[in-house]
Amino acid sequence: MKTEKYKLLIQQRILQTIEEWTLQEIVEEHELHRFFHNLKGTSGTIGLMEMERFSASKESLFVEKSVRTLTCSEWSEHVVPLTNMFNSEMIHNEPPAETVKAAALKPKSSQDSSLDQKRVLVIDDDVDFVTYVKEVLEKNDYQVSIGLTAERGLKLFYQWKPCLLLLDIVLPDQSGMEVLNQIVEKAKLEHIPIIMVSGNFSVENQISAYRSGAMDFLAKPFDVALLTALIDNRFMMKVDWERSITLDELTGAYNRKHFNDVMRHQIQAYEQRQDVFSLVMLDLDHFKHVNDSYGHLKGDEVLQAFAASARNIFQNKGIFCRYGGEEFALVLPHLDSVQAANLLDQLRRQFNAINFVSKDETFQVTFSSGITQISGSVTQAEKLVDQADQALYAAKRGGRNQTIVYSMDISEHKTESSLNLIVVDDDPLIRDILISRFADWKPTSQTTVKAYGFEDGKTFLSSDWYREGEKYIILLDGSMPELDGLDVLRELRRSFPEQQLLIVMLTARNQPEDIIQALEIGADDYVIKPFHMQELMLRIERLASRIVSE
Ligand code: GH3
Ligand code: MG
Ligand code: MG
Repeated sequence: MKTEKYKLLIQQRILQTIEEWTLQEIVEEHELHRFFHNLKGTSGTIGLMEMERFSASKESLFVEKSVRTLTCSEWSEHVVPLTNMFNSEMIHNEPPAETVKAAALKPKSSQDSSLDQKRVLVIDDDVDFVTYVKEVLEKNDYQVSIGLTAERGLKLFYQWKPCLLLLDIVLPDQSGMEVLNQIVEKAKLEHIPIIMVSGNFSVENQISAYRSGAMDFLAKPFDVALLTALIDNRFMMKVDWERSITLDELTGAYNRKHFNDVMRHQIQAYEQRQDVFSLVMLDLDHFKHVNDSYGHLKGDEVLQAFAASARNIFQNKGIFCRYGGEEFALVLPHLDSVQAANLLDQLRRQFNAINFVSKDETFQVTFSSGITQISGSVTQAEKLVDQADQALYAAKRGGRNQTIVYSMDISEHKTESSLNLIVVDDDPLIRDILISRFADWKPTSQTTVKAYGFEDGKTFLSSDWYREGEKYIILLDGSMPELDGLDVLRELRRSFPEQQLLIVMLTARNQPEDIIQALEIGADDYVIKPFHMQELMLRIERLASRIVSE
């Protein structure tokens, strides 16, 4: 980042404010409060540490809602020292721009497996505890999501697919034991270790947690080194488990690891003997709708039925693998893409005819697929997956429930999807910094970022920012004039589809209760102001990987 540029902008803003206030004769106390509040956030973020400390101490002198007025000599005594601070300030904690770029702007690899991302879900309503655990684990390269209630936690469990779960026993809406019972089967199938954490560690509690399938029981309070050691240990165990097996336990399909082995083998056979094969990527249509309408257990049943149909049709003709979530990959040795398409038609007929039953309703599910055939020019597994994926997305665009064979045509028409990054903050500098930083970010090779800002929640909500089907990451300042950040958050969660909107709150350090509320209302993450640009970028990059796909 061009930190110098922002230093200069801050300097200009301070001088401009002084000029305006001088013309005004008197200044209201709340204006001083807001001025120092914003300056604190911005200066801290770009590494002007002395100014941050100074502003923080000044902010606390002035009351937010006060209408008391200050004369020129009164306010200038507080503001003028700032003008001397520029030359003395060193930029301490801004890492070199290159490092930040390398760390935060790298596109997501299409070979990302779930194990590359060490995702820990914490379901616990003790906010001090979860924020602390989040901070510690993130320092150790884990990604952490928080559910303060059982309801939110369960949702994250299914949608975010953690590798590991920390579960509290006392939760506001259900007990942790009830949550455990609901998810334990799934957790076992997908090898997700569950660690119970509770202040209530009676022997009975521990016995019942172990009997229900928890892997560990950690008594609160505990030494944080113990927690990280335990989590590292369990994570390694999970990695070993996954390495040692080739079947996806939920569906009985082969797993991603086996898929990689098969691809390697087939490519070698082609290179040595010109032995052709086809690769198909398959994805269930509107599967989120199935989960939302009939529940995740029904969703699982659909996945199992899909895999069973596939086994039936492909039997010993192909290797059917669960690529991730509700996406599957099929390798068909010795078959060209026309033969592959015929087999897929059979699968379509069989699978579409299944009537799933939920309460007194029946429903059907369809799938889309994309085929590519290995050819002389393209023999890397990654590129073949990319081609089949492009064909799959063409099938989705074309109305779903169909198969498309890859051709150069598709790749020329491959549409760039865009990710909207919206900054809602009344501090123009923060907006400017963030927007310019995100403007040339490319989360994946096919995704471009549109970054823009709004000066307050009201302007934002009343604008026509929302386009159905597009993805959004919204950075929301916690304290803004007019409409508070939390109110904006509430409105966003009430009126827009949750899946398309990831919301990060920017919160002041001295307002922990705002974090609690934000998480309760459904914020996906929060960042404490002043934040470090690098940290924020990493968070945003991780969040983006939840909603944009290759
Ligand atoms: P599209 O037709 O565009 O593919 O729409 P979609 O709704 O299928 O969209 P998307 O691929 O984004 O949604 C996939 C959903 O699948 C999100 C996730 O909650 C759900 N899912 C992933 N893995 C599982 C699983 O193991 N079980 C259940 N029940 N749901 C899963
Ligand atoms: Mg789908
Ligand atoms: Mg999908």
